[in-house]
Amino acid sequence: SSFSKPRVHNSFCHQTSGCIFPFAGWSLGLLFLDSEMECAKGGIKIRIYGFKLFIERFCMTGGNSPVGYLKAYHTNLYLSADPVKVREALEEGIAAATMFTPEKMTEVSKTQLRVAFDGDAVLFSDESERIFKAHGLDKFFEHEKAHENKPLDHGPLKGFLEALGKLQKRFYDKGQRLDCPIRTYLVTARSAASSGTRALKTLRSWGLEIDEALFLAGAPKGPMLEKIRPHIFFDDQMFHVERAAEMGTVACHVPYGIAQRVNKEGGKEMSSAPE
Ligand SMILES: [Mg+2]
Repeated sequence: SSFSKPRVHNSFCHQTSGCIFPFAGWSLGLLFLDSEMECAKGGIKIRIYGFKLFIERFCMTGGNSPVGYLKAYHTNLYLSADPVKVREALEEGIAAATMFTPEKMTEVSKTQLRVAFDGDAVLFSDESERIFKAHGLDKFFEHEKAHENKPLDHGPLKGFLEALGKLQKRFYDKGQRLDCPIRTYLVTARSAASSGTRALKTLRSWGLEIDEALFLAGAPKGPMLEKIRPHIFFDDQMFHVERAAEMGTVACHVPYGIAQRVNKEGGKEMSSAPE
């Protein structure tokens, strides 16, 4: 039953719509629902029980931003439809992303929670991405070759991968290595050569494992995600988020790093050209 599924205890959701539920049903230990989403406390209760979510901690802030409470709750992941609050959370050092609802959601596994991450500016910092944006692909490859043995700095979602890894280890300890109900994926535009090697060496230097590492060398991520069918996918570039959502994946934008451009007049999130 959904009550025996693994849980990341301190996930925090804010003003997200129905797309959260396949992921939340697996993972939530804590839920914040915005007052705009449900106008009555009774409505929230019915909705939670209706989806059989196992909620251990609950927080209502009367319309105020919950971001100030995230650290106190030791939040592993904050998801919201509001990019401003997501930025605030990232500035607080919380793993956070803006969630988008696909028009038609792909059917996902009922027996395994699948979480897919982009690499640069998501699990890793945007240091290599900066080289690519400033000097192009050739300089990027040169840079990655020269720094192959130097681990990348951590990105905003490293802590969430770490939290998933701790849960996975509990299953490994019970002998459930191959049939672990949590599976993680790195879906990166890096190639399998030196740039990919650096990514893998970085994960190893952190003591973190990822179940599948997919190096696409610039090929589109959408078809790969269609095969994986993750419950949730994180990327810093809106281009990849939009393509993933078109394929029916619950896609989340991590507004961090050099790829972000904010249109100050409209306050609208923009992204640069895809890698
Ligand atoms: Mg990226």
